[in-house]
Amino acid sequence: MAHLPAHEAVNQYFAEAATILDLDPELHAVLTTPYREITVQVPVRLDDGDLIVVRGYRVQHNGARGPYKGGIRYHPTTDLNEVRALASLMTWKTALLDLPFGGAKGGVEVDPTGMSQGELQRLTRRFTNGIQHLLGVYRDIPAPDMNTNAQTMAWIMDAFSASHGYSPAIVTGKPLDLGGAPGREAATGRGCTYVLDAWCQHQGLALAGQRVAIQGFGNVGSWMARELHERGAKVVAVSDVSGAIVNPGGIDVPGLVALVGSGRSVVEAERGDVITNQELIELECDVLVPAALGEVITDANAGAVRAKVVVEAANYPVTPGGDKILRDLGVTVIPDILANAGGVTGSYFEWTQNIQQFTWKEERFVAELLEKMQGAFRFTQAFADDHRITLRQAAYAIGIKRVADAAKLRGYI
Ligand code: NAD
Repeated sequence: MAHLPAHEAVNQYFAEAATILDLDPELHAVLTTPYREITVQVPVRLDDGDLIVVRGYRVQHNGARGPYKGGIRYHPTTDLNEVRALASLMTWKTALLDLPFGGAKGGVEVDPTGMSQGELQRLTRRFTNGIQHLLGVYRDIPAPDMNTNAQTMAWIMDAFSASHGYSPAIVTGKPLDLGGAPGREAATGRGCTYVLDAWCQHQGLALAGQRVAIQGFGNVGSWMARELHERGAKVVAVSDVSGAIVNPGGIDVPGLVALVGSGRSVVEAERGDVITNQELIELECDVLVPAALGEVITDANAGAVRAKVVVEAANYPVTPGGDKILRDLGVTVIPDILANAGGVTGSYFEWTQNIQQFTWKEERFVAELLEKMQGAFRFTQAFADDHRITLRQAAYAIGIKRVADAAKLRGYI
């Protein structure tokens, strides 16, 4: 099958749900077109004196239900089409979770590996200066994504606050010392586990004992692995950009977290065999979790998936061609806009705390996250069962319906 650009592919998922909803064609056109897109020049002086000039993007997809919300990624293959696709996923995700946000995403087309903290700080400040007129506590609130973290958010907050006054609520995923919320860093990975647990309950299965393979051991993958490990599931394989490690007896997750925390790769773990990222996708296991890049399960390899459920911790990891093959094979897919929504839900908790200038204890954060994620799963599963459709179709339909209703009330058409 010819390669479909990410935004066109995500709009295929949209179209399937729009048919189920019998969506008005005018609304269809409005909801599939991003509201605003900006490309900015980001010049960065490197430590050796050289100058690089890279492109940065911010796409505000839809703001019918609230301020734009979405992460910023640094990656060499990021482009406007990918950011547009990811921004639209945020629109359906925030609506599915019934959060008072719209959808946005940002990206800088740069390879940050090997860049010094000084170089990353200069890059982040220049990018923030380029987009800051579009940001605002009630307009657009960025968060971390691939290769960005709490430190990146601290720099964005500082650059924005320099011209707008002290504004911790301008970003989420901040360090705790700057108004970050205890629990936010772990929220996406934990949320994935809560949703998987709810799916297991629906299937009459126990989460404990499930054999799980996770691609990616960054923020999302490592926190999901920790939560699974604590709940008695068996993490049998994990990977990072250098390759994968497999141990059918179960990986020592706390040991691996410590190893990776010291700046090393998962493939340097003492116990386990090294395999490729591709072999991890095809591994004999119960649960497969893509938690790194997009488009890793396609029509070229979906037929080789042997898990019974795929949890989309990453954004857009399964292409429409791959999705159809998995459906035909009877493999359940828990879609990204549901599975990884713990991140934006945690961001919502952080934002509300910043606005109220009141900090919750982590126990409250975790309890509310669990309730929100498992509630969204149950609502989506019930919708899917009622309409005899997939979880992805149900999740999109619920999200689209909420945005469509808000857009109509606001007079968008
Ligand atoms: P991260 O940068 O912390 O970690 C990314 C991981 O993927 C690292 O282990 C890296 O080595 C690995 N990786 C990179 N390239 C790879 C490749 N080619 N093959 C295999 N592994 C590779 O990023 P993250 O924040 O954990 O985000 C991971 C995914 O989850 C992304 O798709 C992101 O959009 C999505 N997501 C993140 C959040 C969040 O709160 N951070 C929220 C929702 C969704």
